[in-house]
Amino acid sequence: MKLLEERIKKDGVVLPGNVLKVNQFLNHQIDPELMYKMGEEFARLFKDEEITKIITVESSGITPAVMAGLVMKLPVVFARKHKSLTLVDNLYTSDVYSYTKKVTNTISVDKKFLTSDDKVLIIDDFLANGQAVQGIFNICDAAGAEIKGVGIVIEKSFQEGAKIIHDRGVRLESLAVISSFDDNQVHFEGEE
Ligand code: 5GP
Repeated sequence: MKLLEERIKKDGVVLPGNVLKVNQFLNHQIDPELMYKMGEEFARLFKDEEITKIITVESSGITPAVMAGLVMKLPVVFARKHKSLTLVDNLYTSDVYSYTKKVTNTISVDKKFLTSDDKVLIIDDFLANGQAVQGIFNICDAAGAEIKGVGIVIEKSFQEGAKIIHDRGVRLESLAVISSFDDNQVHFEGEE
């Protein structure tokens, strides 16, 4: 998505550890117009997949997921990162190691919001080593929900995440694909 690539070039800051900071429009301050256009793009890409529900992880996945849900007219569920002290029996859970925060969170989804009737589109802000997506795969598997695809705002293709998704035979669509951060610059896949 050209508009997104241009915005990353303009506002993205490369941090040590192959982390891209995009606090200007995605991870802290949010640009709703750009987010809405992402929602339209996800809707276009996945329009033939007969999706019934969109799933993401709090917090930065929520905005692109809601925008896609708005355009596709589908409900959006976000996995919570903080353990509920009550109703533990009614939750699907999975442990997820966070690439940026270097901690393991137990993510959870209430069983009433995900069933074996659901055909799911997973959306997240970044794809690095695929731990967040794997956590949602585990939750969908526990619920018996069918995974129709994964939509990512920014994929870092030099990390392992895409392999996990492709090995499972799931369709992956990323709106921007970063191939390297050589010389602290963002380089996109297919760029000269
Ligand atoms: P993964 O689980 O694929 O290793 O990492 C994905 C999660 O880590 C995303 O949900 C995102 O919150 C965070 N993340 C991974 N890489 C980056 C990055 O380069 N920049 C930012 N801002 N977040 C990232």
